[in-house]
Order: sequence, then C-alpha cells, then structure tokens
Amino acid sequence: MQGGATGLAYRGRTASIGFAHGPFVRVDAGTNGERVAGTLVEEALALRSAIDVASGQIAELATIAGGEAAQILEFQVALLEDEDFIEAIFASIGEGSSADVAWRSALDEQIADYNSAEDEYLKARSSDLADLRDRVINILRGGEGQVLKIPSGAVVCADDLPPSRFLEIDWSSGGGLALLRGSPTSHVAMLARARGIPMVVQLGAIPEIGATALLDGESAMLELDPNAEQVRLFEKRRENHRKSRASARAILRRPTASWRGERIKLFINIQRVDDLDHADAQYADGIGLMRTEFLLTERGRLPDEEAQFAAYDAVLRWADRRPVTIRTFDAGGDKPVPGFTLDGEANPFLGVRGLRLCLARPDVFTVQLRALARAAVRGNLKVMFPMVTSADELEAGRKLFAEIVQRLQVDGIDAMLPELGIMVEVPAAALAIASFKASFFSIGSNDLAQYVLACDRSNGALAPLMDPLHPALLELIARTAEHGRRGGISVSLCGDMASDPRCLPALLNCGLRELSVNASALAQIKRTIDRLSNGGGLG
Ligand code: PEP
Ligand code: MG
Repeated sequence: MQGGATGLAYRGRTASIGFAHGPFVRVDAGTNGERVAGTLVEEALALRSAIDVASGQIAELATIAGGEAAQILEFQVALLEDEDFIEAIFASIGEGSSADVAWRSALDEQIADYNSAEDEYLKARSSDLADLRDRVINILRGGEGQVLKIPSGAVVCADDLPPSRFLEIDWSSGGGLALLRGSPTSHVAMLARARGIPMVVQLGAIPEIGATALLDGESAMLELDPNAEQVRLFEKRRENHRKSRASARAILRRPTASWRGERIKLFINIQRVDDLDHADAQYADGIGLMRTEFLLTERGRLPDEEAQFAAYDAVLRWADRRPVTIRTFDAGGDKPVPGFTLDGEANPFLGVRGLRLCLARPDVFTVQLRALARAAVRGNLKVMFPMVTSADELEAGRKLFAEIVQRLQVDGIDAMLPELGIMVEVPAAALAIASFKASFFSIGSNDLAQYVLACDRSNGALAPLMDPLHPALLELIARTAEHGRRGGISVSLCGDMASDPRCLPALLNCGLRELSVNASALAQIKRTIDRLSNGGGLG
C-alpha cells in the first residue's frame, strides 16, 4: 500500500491490461445469514428445488454468454449432475442436517480440495465452486441478491469473483475488476482479457470504504478516492496507452519490416476457430500454432472426427493459401483432460503428456490424425507434435500418421500426409536437434524455459527466476535457429516470448525470422520490429 490520507494506492498482479475510472463497488457474497430449517422431507425438497433453480439460471446464463463462458459454466452444471456427489448431500439431510448446512459443508470440502491443489488451473476452479455454493444457498434463503446491480463503468472489487457473477455484470460501458485474491490464470481472468476489461488480482486487504477508484491494469494498481494529482497521472498513463495502441494498429496493414535484409514472418497463435474473429488476425502471415487440446474440454467429452475436421477445415478456409500449423493434442501437465490424461502422476509436468500421451492412447490420437489427414487436402496445412524428447517418438507418430493416411485413401477418402514438424520445448530436443528428421521446428519457449530453469511455469512465486532472457535459454534458441539456417529448415518460436517486445532484439539476434504471437500482440510486435529495423528502440 502507498499514499496519504486520501488517495490510497494498492499494488497487485496484472490479469488483464486496460484502465478504468469509476465508482468503487464491493460485491462480496454475503451468504452468512440464517435460515429456519424444516422437517427432513421439507429440507430434501427445498434442496432439490434450489438445485433445479440454480441449474436453470446457469443454463440461461450460458445461453446468453455463449462460447468460452458457456464452457466455464458447464463445470458447475457437471457438478450438479454428479449423482454420487448430490446423493451424499441428501444422505446427510436424511441424518438430520438442514439443506443449507449439508450443501455448504459438501461444497466447502470440494473447495478445500481444489484450493490445496498445486496446479494453478485446478486451484482457480475453487472460485467456480464457491459461486455454485453461494448461488444455491441464496436460493434456499429466498433467492435474493441474484442479480448484481452495478453502476455503469464501476471498478468492481471482490475477494474473488466467480465467472457467473462476472457474466451477470453489464460491462458494456467499461469498468474494471479488482480482486483481493484471485489468479491471472483463472477463468474469470480469461473472460476479462477476452472482453478487454482491466483486471488486477492479489491486491491483499483493502478497506470497505471508497467512493471512486482508478484501476490501472498495466501497472497493476488500484487507487481509492484518488486526489487530483493521482487522477491527472492516471489519465496521462491511460492516454499514452491509447496512443501507443492506436499507432501500433496503424502499421498493421503494411508488410512486416525486414531485419538485416531478411523478411520477418509474423503468424498468430489460436486455440479455437472463434479466435480468428480478432480484428487484427487478418494481418498475420498465417497461423503459427493452433493449440488443439482446448477442443478436448469444449463439450465435456472427447470430440469426434467430424467435429475436429470441421474445426481444422474452418481454420484452413479462413487462412486461404496462408500456412496453418496445427499442433496435435498437448494434454497433461498444466492442461489435464478428464478421461484422457492420467490421474495420480506424482509429477505431471514430467509425466505422460503431449506426444507421449497420444502415442500411449492411439484410440484418441487416431481420431485426430484422421481428421488432420482429411483436412490436409483442403489448404496449406502443417502438423506438429508437442513435447517431443527423442527422434523415435517423431518417427512413431509419423508411422501411425502415414498408416492412417493410407487406410483413408484405400477407403476412397481424400487425405494426405501434411508436412510434419515438432515443438522444441524439451531441452533434450534442442540439444539433439540434428537427430530429428522434421520438416520444420517451432520453439515452445514457455515449456523450454520451464524445463531449462527448473521453474514450474504456473507458480507465481518463481516469477523472478523465470527469466525468458536467461542465457541458457537463449543459447538453446540460437542453436535451434542455427540448425535450421544451415539445413534450410524453417524454425519459428511460438511461446509467449514472441509476444513480448522486450524479448524481440534477443530473438532476432538468435537468428529467428519467424514468430507466432497472440493476435492482440500482433500490432505491437510489428511496430517494434519496424522500429528496431530503423535503428529505434523497443517502443
Ligand atoms: C510453449 O510451451 O511455449 C508453447 C507454445 O506451448 P504451450 O504454452 O501450449 O505449452
Ligand atoms: Mg508447450
């Protein structure tokens, strides 16, 4: 905390960049009131009806919100439909607990389980469960307070805010989100980024009072009841940010600058077809990484061949003749997929994940490879395998893929084997790069940094050590780029470093000439290359 009697300032962590200046509103749940319990039968009926009402509300919210938001809400619906879980709560009512006590203690137990998970992704799911707990309890208490009344443009402050509460707020006039706890990897943070709502998490203790607030998602600051000087400085930072974004967007249409006489190709990373709706995506040289594992969690079941083919085909159609690199499922580690990844591994980051898992599960992998082989005839498709350690794994994947293509062709189905490459994200692959007979390489600097620096990428406490400019990491990137240059094999980098202007000079000096970035970073990266090639600074 900083500041004087007025204008207190708090620093947290950035979850979504942007600026908000508006009324300060606390929205903590408040589910501690009392409720008079009835007979065993009345309590069971009350809970049954509250669960039904909650399911209806969540389904309605999912329909209105659509896309990613709907997917998040499915997690809550899945719990409400888990018969074993719900039966145990009714059993506890049968033993004399009131509906709200039985419900709350079952949910609290689940929340504690998720909270104790080391994985940040699982930990972040506890706020989804707290949301469900509070929703049902509110309904049991008469259903008050379901719709949050928030003045437009407000800076909303909560301990943590579940996705469904976020979706109930009307963000159409702007506003921002300040969380005392929360995590930048939570679902609500993902929603805030997708909607351009500034969000700062982990602000710690903040007084209940405050009439107005400034939220600066860039420097992760919340200022309460700001004085005139604080407002002036805030507005200046906001204006600089706006100008910087506008000038970056202005150069999007121009061809990317060259660096030391060589053209730099800029691709984008996507997770699903909808990501192509981003206004800047059309200015990319193609898709450098499609992370397909998100298709696995979209409908709560593994996608069939047709659903996958439709997704890959849509991306190829969008790209026209531009190259599209689709990565096969990279599940496991920080991306568990129920029904696919293994439970109970002591160390999932070093476990059966990525290509290792796909080779161990040919039933799932075959479906994806069939869809990809069919899509390959429709556009400029390249396919790459993630988490490859040894050349044998690449060859095993290639053999399976080739057999699948042959079988499709024998059955008279249009299919072909696309160009095959690998992600370079395991140090062994970078060090033994010459052993891989790949058509192209794409450096996954997120995982490469994690494994080279021995830092779990989702552990915020290790952030200072997780230095993307560490000489050991740059050495491996340079070796990989050099191998590509000598052999005339394309090498790109698709990890988050490529979207960070501060890393650009180092990446270009390592010899990289192809980068794949988040669509929202495309304009800024293009401008930075432009400035660097004209002898300017990072900008
Ligand atoms: C990487 O590891 O850098 C990468 C691009 O893959 P992901 O972030 O999906 O692991
Ligand atoms: Mg990776």
